[in-house]
Amino acid sequence: MRRWLPIVALLLVACGADAQNRSATAPRAGFDSNRAWTDLERQVAFGPRPAGSPALAKCREYIEAQLKAIKAAYREQTFDAMTPAGTIRMTNVIATIPGRRSDRLVIATHYDTKRFAEFKFLGASDAASSTAATLELARVLTARANEYTIELLFLDGEEAVNTEWRDPDNTYGSKYYVQAAQQAGTLASLKALILLDMVGDRDLDIRPDTNSAPWLNQIVWSSAARLGYASTFIPQPFTVEDDHLPFVEARVASIDIIDLDYPQWHTAQDDLDHVSARSLQIVGDVVLDALPQIEQQLSQNLNR
Ligand SMILES: [Zn+2]
Repeated sequence: MRRWLPIVALLLVACGADAQNRSATAPRAGFDSNRAWTDLERQVAFGPRPAGSPALAKCREYIEAQLKAIKAAYREQTFDAMTPAGTIRMTNVIATIPGRRSDRLVIATHYDTKRFAEFKFLGASDAASSTAATLELARVLTARANEYTIELLFLDGEEAVNTEWRDPDNTYGSKYYVQAAQQAGTLASLKALILLDMVGDRDLDIRPDTNSAPWLNQIVWSSAARLGYASTFIPQPFTVEDDHLPFVEARVASIDIIDLDYPQWHTAQDDLDHVSARSLQIVGDVVLDALPQIEQQLSQNLNR
Protein backbone atom coordinates (compact mmCIF):
# COMPACT_ATOMS: atom_id res chain seq x y z
CA MET A 1 0.00 0.00 0.00
CA ARG A 2 0.99 3.57 -0.13
CA ARG A 3 0.72 6.32 2.40
CA TRP A 4 0.18 9.97 1.75
CA LEU A 5 1.58 12.85 3.77
CA PRO A 6 0.32 12.74 7.35
CA ILE A 7 -2.22 15.24 8.55
CA VAL A 8 -0.36 16.65 11.52
CA ALA A 9 -2.80 19.34 12.59
CA LEU A 10 -4.91 17.03 14.70
CA LEU A 11 -2.30 15.82 17.15
CA LEU A 12 -4.15 15.00 20.33
CA VAL A 13 -2.37 13.91 23.45
CA ALA A 14 -2.90 10.24 24.10
CA CYS A 15 -3.84 9.78 27.71
CA GLY A 16 -4.91 7.12 30.14
CA ALA A 17 -3.19 4.10 31.57
CA ASP A 18 -1.72 1.73 29.08
CA ALA A 19 -1.46 -2.00 29.42
CA GLN A 20 1.97 -2.26 27.80
CA ASN A 21 3.02 -4.85 30.35
CA ARG A 22 0.00 -7.05 29.80
CA SER A 23 1.24 -10.55 29.07
CA ALA A 24 1.11 -11.66 25.46
CA THR A 25 1.91 -15.24 26.36
CA ALA A 26 -0.79 -16.21 28.88
CA PRO A 27 -3.37 -18.60 27.42
CA ARG A 28 -6.76 -16.97 26.88
CA ALA A 29 -10.26 -17.90 25.89
CA GLY A 30 -10.20 -15.08 23.36
CA PHE A 31 -7.52 -14.15 20.85
CA ASP A 32 -4.44 -16.29 21.49
CA SER A 33 -1.32 -14.59 20.16
CA ASN A 34 0.72 -17.76 20.69
CA ARG A 35 -1.31 -19.51 18.02
CA ALA A 36 -1.20 -16.42 15.81
CA TRP A 37 2.58 -16.25 16.22
CA THR A 38 2.88 -19.84 14.97
CA ASP A 39 0.84 -18.85 11.91
CA LEU A 40 3.18 -15.91 11.34
CA GLU A 41 6.34 -18.04 11.66
CA ARG A 42 5.01 -20.70 9.34
CA GLN A 43 4.30 -18.14 6.62
CA VAL A 44 7.74 -16.53 6.93
CA ALA A 45 9.30 -20.02 6.66
CA PHE A 46 7.84 -20.34 3.14
CA GLY A 47 10.18 -17.49 2.09
CA PRO A 48 9.20 -14.69 -0.33
CA ARG A 49 5.56 -15.19 -1.39
CA PRO A 50 4.77 -12.93 -4.35
CA ALA A 51 1.59 -13.45 -6.38
CA GLY A 52 1.89 -16.45 -8.70
CA SER A 53 4.81 -18.04 -6.84
CA PRO A 54 4.95 -21.68 -5.63
CA ALA A 55 5.69 -20.34 -2.12
CA LEU A 56 2.41 -18.40 -2.12
CA ALA A 57 0.57 -21.56 -3.20
CA LYS A 58 2.11 -23.32 -0.17
CA CYS A 59 1.06 -20.42 2.04
CA ARG A 60 -2.47 -20.66 0.68
CA GLU A 61 -2.50 -24.43 1.44
CA TYR A 62 -1.43 -23.58 4.99
CA ILE A 63 -4.24 -21.01 5.37
CA GLU A 64 -6.77 -23.53 4.05
CA ALA A 65 -5.48 -26.27 6.36
CA GLN A 66 -6.08 -23.93 9.32
CA LEU A 67 -9.62 -23.23 8.09
CA LYS A 68 -10.27 -26.95 7.65
CA ALA A 69 -9.05 -27.62 11.20
CA ILE A 70 -11.78 -25.36 12.60
CA LYS A 71 -14.36 -26.66 10.10
CA ALA A 72 -14.82 -23.23 8.54
CA ALA A 73 -16.35 -23.41 5.06
CA TYR A 74 -14.19 -21.72 2.44
CA ARG A 75 -13.86 -21.34 -1.29
CA GLU A 76 -11.16 -20.19 -3.67
CA GLN A 77 -11.77 -17.31 -6.07
CA THR A 78 -9.21 -17.66 -8.85
CA PHE A 79 -8.68 -15.14 -11.64
CA ASP A 80 -6.09 -14.05 -14.18
CA ALA A 81 -4.63 -10.63 -13.44
CA MET A 82 -3.06 -8.53 -16.18
CA THR A 83 0.10 -7.12 -14.60
CA PRO A 84 3.22 -5.30 -15.89
CA ALA A 85 4.94 -8.73 -15.68
CA GLY A 86 2.25 -10.39 -17.82
CA THR A 87 -0.76 -12.46 -16.80
CA ILE A 88 -0.54 -13.85 -13.27
CA ARG A 89 -3.04 -16.35 -11.90
CA MET A 90 -4.20 -15.17 -8.47
CA THR A 91 -6.46 -16.70 -5.84
CA ASN A 92 -8.47 -15.11 -3.03
CA VAL A 93 -9.58 -17.44 -0.22
CA ILE A 94 -13.03 -16.68 1.20
CA ALA A 95 -14.16 -18.36 4.43
CA THR A 96 -17.64 -17.94 5.88
CA ILE A 97 -18.84 -18.27 9.47
CA PRO A 98 -22.65 -18.20 9.43
CA GLY A 99 -24.31 -15.83 11.91
CA ARG A 100 -27.92 -15.25 12.97
CA ARG A 101 -28.25 -12.78 10.11
CA SER A 102 -27.21 -13.42 6.53
CA ASP A 103 -25.81 -9.87 6.30
CA ARG A 104 -22.03 -10.02 6.33
CA LEU A 105 -19.12 -8.40 8.09
CA VAL A 106 -15.84 -9.01 6.29
CA ILE A 107 -12.47 -9.25 8.01
CA ALA A 108 -9.79 -9.07 5.32
CA THR A 109 -6.03 -9.20 4.83
CA HIS A 110 -3.72 -9.72 1.91
CA TYR A 111 -1.44 -12.76 2.06
CA ASP A 112 0.93 -12.09 -0.84
CA THR A 113 4.30 -10.40 -0.31
CA LYS A 114 5.90 -7.79 -2.52
CA ARG A 115 8.31 -9.13 -5.12
CA PHE A 116 11.90 -7.90 -4.94
CA ALA A 117 14.59 -9.29 -7.21
CA GLU A 118 17.43 -7.58 -5.31
CA PHE A 119 16.85 -9.16 -1.89
CA LYS A 120 14.88 -11.83 -0.04
CA PHE A 121 11.71 -10.17 1.19
CA LEU A 122 10.10 -12.22 3.98
CA GLY A 123 7.14 -9.99 4.78
CA ALA A 124 6.87 -10.82 8.49
CA SER A 125 4.65 -7.81 9.07
CA ASP A 126 3.65 -7.28 5.42
CA ALA A 127 1.62 -9.52 5.28
CA ALA A 128 2.27 -12.56 7.50
CA SER A 129 1.14 -10.59 10.58
CA SER A 130 -2.33 -9.63 9.38
CA THR A 131 -2.84 -13.06 7.82
CA ALA A 132 -1.94 -14.66 11.17
CA ALA A 133 -4.26 -12.30 13.05
CA THR A 134 -7.11 -13.07 10.65
CA LEU A 135 -6.60 -16.83 11.07
CA GLU A 136 -6.68 -16.51 14.85
CA LEU A 137 -9.80 -14.31 14.65
CA ALA A 138 -11.37 -17.09 12.54
CA ARG A 139 -10.64 -19.59 15.36
CA VAL A 140 -12.22 -17.35 17.99
CA LEU A 141 -15.24 -16.43 15.88
CA THR A 142 -16.07 -20.02 14.81
CA ALA A 143 -16.14 -21.01 18.48
CA ARG A 144 -18.92 -18.56 19.38
CA ALA A 145 -22.35 -17.45 18.15
CA ASN A 146 -22.27 -14.31 16.01
CA GLU A 147 -25.04 -11.90 15.12
CA TYR A 148 -23.75 -11.18 11.62
CA THR A 149 -22.32 -13.71 9.20
CA ILE A 150 -18.57 -13.19 9.24
CA GLU A 151 -16.45 -13.61 6.18
CA LEU A 152 -12.67 -14.01 6.41
CA LEU A 153 -11.11 -12.79 3.22
CA PHE A 154 -7.51 -13.65 2.31
CA LEU A 155 -6.64 -11.49 -0.68
CA ASP A 156 -4.00 -12.18 -3.30
CA GLY A 157 -2.12 -9.53 -5.26
CA GLU A 158 -2.33 -6.48 -3.00
CA GLU A 159 1.25 -5.54 -3.77
CA ALA A 160 2.26 -3.72 -6.92
CA VAL A 161 4.18 -5.99 -9.30
CA ASN A 162 6.40 -3.07 -10.29
CA THR A 163 8.56 -1.45 -7.64
CA GLU A 164 6.39 1.65 -7.60
CA TRP A 165 2.75 1.72 -6.54
CA ARG A 166 0.92 3.10 -9.55
CA ASP A 167 -2.65 2.39 -10.65
CA PRO A 168 -3.80 -0.05 -11.85
CA ASP A 169 -0.80 -2.12 -10.71
CA ASN A 170 -1.99 -2.95 -7.15
CA THR A 171 -4.87 -4.43 -5.09
CA TYR A 172 -5.66 -7.03 -7.77
CA GLY A 173 -7.46 -9.39 -5.38
CA SER A 174 -9.72 -6.80 -3.74
CA LYS A 175 -10.60 -5.19 -7.08
CA TYR A 176 -11.56 -8.58 -8.47
CA TYR A 177 -13.55 -9.52 -5.36
CA VAL A 178 -15.63 -6.31 -5.46
CA GLN A 179 -16.20 -6.54 -9.21
CA ALA A 180 -17.33 -10.19 -8.94
CA ALA A 181 -19.64 -9.34 -6.00
CA GLN A 182 -21.17 -6.47 -7.98
CA GLN A 183 -21.78 -8.76 -10.93
CA ALA A 184 -23.29 -11.46 -8.70
CA GLY A 185 -25.44 -8.91 -6.84
CA THR A 186 -24.01 -9.97 -3.46
CA LEU A 187 -22.46 -6.66 -2.45
CA ALA A 188 -25.66 -5.38 -0.82
CA SER A 189 -25.41 -7.94 2.00
CA LEU A 190 -21.82 -6.85 2.75
CA LYS A 191 -22.31 -4.30 5.53
CA ALA A 192 -18.76 -3.51 6.66
CA LEU A 193 -15.13 -4.32 5.93
CA ILE A 194 -12.40 -4.52 8.57
CA LEU A 195 -9.06 -4.65 6.77
CA LEU A 196 -5.92 -5.64 8.67
CA ASP A 197 -2.48 -4.95 7.19
CA MET A 198 1.00 -4.72 8.75
CA VAL A 199 -0.04 -5.25 12.36
CA GLY A 200 3.12 -7.04 13.54
CA ASP A 201 5.53 -4.14 14.19
CA ARG A 202 7.24 -4.52 17.59
CA ASP A 203 6.78 -0.79 18.12
CA LEU A 204 3.15 -0.83 17.15
CA ASP A 205 1.54 2.52 16.40
CA ILE A 206 -1.69 2.60 14.49
CA ARG A 207 -3.26 5.79 13.18
CA PRO A 208 -6.74 6.38 11.78
CA ASP A 209 -6.85 6.37 7.99
CA THR A 210 -8.88 9.13 6.35
CA ASN A 211 -10.14 6.80 3.58
CA SER A 212 -11.84 4.73 6.31
CA ALA A 213 -15.38 5.40 7.59
CA PRO A 214 -15.19 7.87 10.53
CA TRP A 215 -17.73 5.88 12.59
CA LEU A 216 -15.64 2.71 12.26
CA ASN A 217 -12.48 4.59 13.25
CA GLN A 218 -14.34 5.98 16.24
CA ILE A 219 -15.52 2.58 17.48
CA VAL A 220 -12.10 0.97 17.02
CA TRP A 221 -10.21 3.82 18.71
CA SER A 222 -12.70 3.78 21.62
CA SER A 223 -12.17 0.03 22.05
CA ALA A 224 -8.41 0.54 22.04
CA ALA A 225 -8.63 3.26 24.68
CA ARG A 226 -10.95 1.17 26.87
CA LEU A 227 -8.55 -1.80 26.69
CA GLY A 228 -5.61 0.40 27.71
CA TYR A 229 -4.03 0.63 24.24
CA ALA A 230 -4.31 4.40 23.82
CA SER A 231 -0.57 4.76 23.26
CA THR A 232 -0.73 2.21 20.42
CA PHE A 233 -3.84 3.51 18.69
CA ILE A 234 -2.81 7.13 18.39
CA PRO A 235 -5.24 9.75 17.11
CA GLN A 236 -3.13 11.32 14.32
CA PRO A 237 -4.98 10.75 11.05
CA PHE A 238 -3.20 9.89 7.81
CA THR A 239 -4.26 8.60 4.40
CA VAL A 240 -3.57 5.11 3.10
CA GLU A 241 -4.22 3.43 -0.23
CA ASP A 242 -4.81 -0.25 0.40
CA ASP A 243 -7.17 -3.16 -0.29
CA HIS A 244 -10.11 -1.26 1.26
CA LEU A 245 -10.30 1.30 -1.57
CA PRO A 246 -12.29 -0.86 -4.05
CA PHE A 247 -14.78 -1.46 -1.20
CA VAL A 248 -14.91 2.25 -0.31
CA GLU A 249 -15.56 3.09 -3.95
CA ALA A 250 -18.41 0.52 -3.92
CA ARG A 251 -19.82 2.35 -0.85
CA VAL A 252 -19.07 -0.41 1.67
CA ALA A 253 -18.28 1.03 5.13
CA SER A 254 -14.60 0.17 5.57
CA ILE A 255 -11.70 0.56 7.98
CA ASP A 256 -8.00 -0.13 7.42
CA ILE A 257 -6.14 -1.04 10.62
CA ILE A 258 -2.49 -0.61 9.62
CA ASP A 259 0.87 0.40 11.07
CA LEU A 260 2.86 2.05 8.32
CA ASP A 261 5.31 3.67 10.75
CA TYR A 262 7.53 0.64 10.22
CA PRO A 263 11.12 1.43 9.19
CA GLN A 264 11.50 -2.13 7.85
CA TRP A 265 8.59 -1.69 5.40
CA HIS A 266 9.52 -3.23 2.01
CA THR A 267 13.09 -3.99 3.14
CA ALA A 268 15.03 -7.20 3.80
CA GLN A 269 14.56 -6.47 7.52
CA ASP A 270 10.80 -7.09 7.56
CA ASP A 271 11.64 -10.27 9.45
CA LEU A 272 10.90 -12.10 12.72
CA ASP A 273 13.20 -9.78 14.69
CA HIS A 274 10.99 -6.77 13.99
CA VAL A 275 7.55 -8.17 14.78
CA SER A 276 6.03 -9.42 18.03
CA ALA A 277 3.25 -11.68 19.31
CA ARG A 278 2.20 -8.87 21.63
CA SER A 279 1.35 -6.60 18.69
CA LEU A 280 -0.85 -9.34 17.25
CA GLN A 281 -2.52 -9.66 20.66
CA ILE A 282 -3.29 -5.94 20.85
CA VAL A 283 -4.88 -5.88 17.40
CA GLY A 284 -6.81 -9.11 18.02
CA ASP A 285 -8.15 -7.81 21.35
CA VAL A 286 -9.23 -4.50 19.81
CA VAL A 287 -11.02 -6.11 16.85
CA LEU A 288 -12.88 -8.55 19.12
CA ASP A 289 -13.90 -5.72 21.45
CA ALA A 290 -15.06 -3.51 18.58
CA LEU A 291 -17.04 -6.18 16.69
CA PRO A 292 -20.22 -6.18 18.85
CA GLN A 293 -20.31 -2.39 18.72
CA ILE A 294 -19.93 -2.40 14.96
CA GLU A 295 -22.77 -4.94 14.77
CA GLN A 296 -24.92 -2.79 17.04
CA GLN A 297 -24.30 0.32 14.94
CA LEU A 298 -25.13 -1.60 11.73
CA SER A 299 -28.38 -2.90 13.26
CA GLN A 300 -29.36 0.65 14.23
CA ASN A 301 -28.66 1.84 10.69
CA LEU A 302 -30.87 -0.95 9.31
CA ASN A 303 -33.74 -0.17 11.65
CA ARG A 304 -33.73 3.51 10.81
ZN1 LIG B 1 3.50 -4.10 1.26
